[in-house]
Amino acid sequence: MPDVCSPRLLIETLAVGDELLRGETLDSNASYLQAALLRAGLRVARGAIVPDDEDTLASELSRAADRANVVVVSGGLGPTVDDRTAAAAARAFGRTLVCDEASLERMRGLFASRGYPFTPNNEKPAWVPNGARVIENPVGSAPAFVLDTGRAQLYFLPGVPREYRVLADRVVVPEIAALREGVVARALVLHTIGTTESRVDQLLRGVDFGDVRLSTRVDGPETNVILVAEGSTAGAAEDALARAATHAREALGPLVYGEGDATLASTLGEALAARGVTIAVAESCTGGLVSAAITDVPGASRYFSCGVVAYANDAKTAMCDVPPELIKNHGAVSEAVVRALARGIRARCGTDVGVGVTGIAGPTGATDDKPVGLVHFAAIAGVREVHRRVVFPPGRERVRKFAARVALAVALESLRSGDEPSERPHERAGDLARAARMGPPEPSGETP
Ligand code: ATP
Ligand code: MG
Repeated sequence: MPDVCSPRLLIETLAVGDELLRGETLDSNASYLQAALLRAGLRVARGAIVPDDEDTLASELSRAADRANVVVVSGGLGPTVDDRTAAAAARAFGRTLVCDEASLERMRGLFASRGYPFTPNNEKPAWVPNGARVIENPVGSAPAFVLDTGRAQLYFLPGVPREYRVLADRVVVPEIAALREGVVARALVLHTIGTTESRVDQLLRGVDFGDVRLSTRVDGPETNVILVAEGSTAGAAEDALARAATHAREALGPLVYGEGDATLASTLGEALAARGVTIAVAESCTGGLVSAAITDVPGASRYFSCGVVAYANDAKTAMCDVPPELIKNHGAVSEAVVRALARGIRARCGTDVGVGVTGIAGPTGATDDKPVGLVHFAAIAGVREVHRRVVFPPGRERVRKFAARVALAVALESLRSGDEPSERPHERAGDLARAARMGPPEPSGETP
């Protein structure tokens, strides 16, 4: 991650909860905040997890407040006996707990409107350290609060992720961003698929990014390029970022499929909607993940027609008209069959685009010439057909998840290849195979 934090502003996160230390729950609140801060050009310097123990929490809080300028605490604000955050904060900073009447009234009203009994312990979240600034929780009952120790600002947010996220977005991130004076940072993520992280890095080596900081991050079969620009004004930072993004896009060419919040599924959806075309999917080893990803995007009904899971050989024939002799001669996991799946589902559904996926998710099913992780993809759009053969690293879950994303990329490529005649499909196919293996480029290649 890029170092985007002004040296004057040290931010720490502190997650409270025994369940986080037992491994039952991941500290997704910290990840959420880190990503949101990064988008605002700020970096978290340190993160910790502590148990539901008042002594430990109190000492962690005072140590964090000594080190950092901002501490964002998650969890332990609820009504139950294991919620001890407010008490620990009061102890750490020598305050008493006082009742915030407005929060109490709000909670009573909320319970009454839902017909829940307001038992005495439900008063507890309204008791906050003396001098705290109380922040109403728009999506839950327990309020958040902020303590200013003079040296540090401490945000106390509910642990429930839905509540934490709303408060992080609406209050914490904007307030922290406003604390930093003199420097405005802007960050942008470019999403690439089709090659390895090291090749992305290599392609960007020749580019002069000036003061814009650059880093890369692997996300499944994708590599993200993160650019962070700083300037004395928002406009200056945004201009520097836009210039850097243009240079990066020139260097990476069609490897970049989108930026910011774009996902493969949303980008594919936009490409389909923009062209006014429809898509159907026939998938085997991904068991519906491709259709699920496409329909995760709101508004997918504009372009998504149908998805079938044609798992058994008979089903490939019955649902997608794959000739049985094709399966017999080439095997179900083959270029011939995946192309037939894509063509067959397109013809059956009368769509413009057809996608086929067939592979060996493992752990069993490998043959001498077909290893676990081998997946064939085909997409047909108009008269253009794209086929890819990829060998993913073993691991059933990973093969299925990665393959679903590559299927979306192949569908996108079939649409875009009509727009960009300069593309070099052979190079890309080799890259894709290497990226999927997440290893160094191998001269033998996996592409036919
Ligand atoms: P509540 O009012 O529900 O008691 P709270 O502020 O006391 O809220 P917790 O009791 O600590 O928060 O956690 C509430 C829920 O949120 C639990 O299901 C917990 O597992 C989950 N949770 C807590 N902290 C985190 C975190 N850092 N990341 C993800 N989930 C979390
Ligand atoms: Mg709780």
